[in-house]
Amino acid sequence: MRRIPQWLQEKYELEIRFGQQVNEISLPKIVTSQETWLVERVIVCSGADFETLYPRVFKENAITKCKLQMMKATAGKKIDIGPSLCAGLTLRHYQAFAECPSLKKVDERYDNELKDFKTHGIHVLLSQNNYGELIIGDSHHYGKTHEPFDREEVNQIILNYLSTFLNVEDFQVTERWHGIYPKLSGKLNLIAEPEKNVTVVNGLGGAGMTLSFGLAEKVIESVYNTYHLQL
Ligand SMILES: Cc1cc2nc3c(=O)[nH]c(=O)nc-3n(C[C@H](O)[C@H](O)[C@H](O)COP(=O)(O)OP(=O)(O)OC[C@H]3O[C@@H](n4cnc5c(N)ncnc54)[C@H](O)[C@@H]3O)c2cc1C
Repeated sequence: MRRIPQWLQEKYELEIRFGQQVNEISLPKIVTSQETWLVERVIVCSGADFETLYPRVFKENAITKCKLQMMKATAGKKIDIGPSLCAGLTLRHYQAFAECPSLKKVDERYDNELKDFKTHGIHVLLSQNNYGELIIGDSHHYGKTHEPFDREEVNQIILNYLSTFLNVEDFQVTERWHGIYPKLSGKLNLIAEPEKNVTVVNGLGGAGMTLSFGLAEKVIESVYNTYHLQL
């Protein structure tokens, strides 16, 4: 992730600013905490910060914040798990499986097994990074504000479930953390034009790492076409 801005700078000579907040957009002016820019078009991708720029857009589009607890672990011996792993709980987490006729039975089975899977929005995914470390997720709690503390009981449910389909020696959790992303209800993303030449793109939820490159291409194409029509 850290190399993407660097690559954009090198390949496309993009000018990037870090450590500055955009406090105001009143075209052609963008006022940041340190400087003022004069621009023609703006695309606002502010993630889970709904409060600073165009808060009205977010109020109008039932959006909330999701807190996810995750962990990193190592195994005693060097292992290669291959593709990412998941198990039955994942079937009821992703909308893509909603049409499966047997899903209701899976849902009932897990509710009978442990109600807390649903209470904490737990499904378990495991993938390996390029250092061979195991990345484990996750829980899902929804609300506009969240506790800074992580709940160990939730981590334990995740780890117990993981042990039903992963068997490695000397498994050791090395890091625990949580992240927060914006979540829309019943929509995959939010694209709005709160004023002329300003486009807000947000709300990709838990699929932004996967879908955002495709969405970005579409948004840029549409912004570019509109811009040319106006000239
Ligand atoms: C724990 C966790 C696990 C995830 N797992 C997956 C996964 O497995 N697969 C997947 O596809 N997706 C996953 N996601 C989702 C994915 O990370 C997000 O959908 C994606 O990052 C959204 O991208 P974005 O650019 O819209 O927002 P963000 O990545 O949140 O970026 C927004 C940026 O804008 C900055 N910003 C906000 N307001 C201002 C302002 N006023 N001025 C200047 N800067 C501002 C913020 O600081 C932030 O850097 C996960 C997310 C989390 C939190």
